[in-house]
Amino acid sequence: MKTIGLLGGMSWESTASYYRIINEQVRTRLGGQHSAKICLYSVDFSEIEQLQNTGAWDKTAAILTNAARKIESCGADFLLICTNTMHKVAPEIEKGLGIPILHIADATAAAIAEKGIKTIGLLGTKFTMEQDFYRGRLEDKYRLKVLIPDKAGRKRVHRVIYDELCLGKVKDSSREAFLDIIRDLKTRGAEGVILGCTEIALLIQQNHTDVPLFDTTEIHALKSVEMALAG
Ligand code: GLU
Repeated sequence: MKTIGLLGGMSWESTASYYRIINEQVRTRLGGQHSAKICLYSVDFSEIEQLQNTGAWDKTAAILTNAARKIESCGADFLLICTNTMHKVAPEIEKGLGIPILHIADATAAAIAEKGIKTIGLLGTKFTMEQDFYRGRLEDKYRLKVLIPDKAGRKRVHRVIYDELCLGKVKDSSREAFLDIIRDLKTRGAEGVILGCTEIALLIQQNHTDVPLFDTTEIHALKSVEMALAG
């Protein structure tokens, strides 16, 4: 079994999901007392969030590259950055590393392709929804048409992520707002919706809607187990 590197804490609410999903999957696949080999480094999210808000992405890249190197020296065979947003600096992190990064958008695009879906809605932080590092990868590398919520919808989704989900608050009113936004994306042609923030699955699950959901946390975590157990 290979050792999975987790760069977490963004937020720790979703890193806990990664840890659970990965270990549950290893138990399902191998049985008995088997559990995953994991090197986890968890950052202080407050530092990262403040740098995001001032646009100091180079500083976030430096912090995360430093953390990723520690994960590598701890023995990880490959790395997961446990957040969609911080894949913005994945190229910089990868440059400083001797192990590969399992990109969350690549794992998600593979799951979407398996369902034959071509037009997909995307929910995430404003950085993930509005900037090119994530959408662009889905559009250019995987030929997907990516739809995002309108301005008010994007603002609501972004605020719920930071003010509620990253703080462990799950509110029915926010779930209703997300479901309205998902319905709107469907009306505009989305055949499915990416939960493109690793905390959204704490609020919305597949049983809340008939629109196919792509939970990036689960997809990313399961793909890492596949890699860890391959060969
Ligand atoms: N975990 C979130 C994501 O997947 C948001 C927190 C962050 O800014 O990293 O994008």
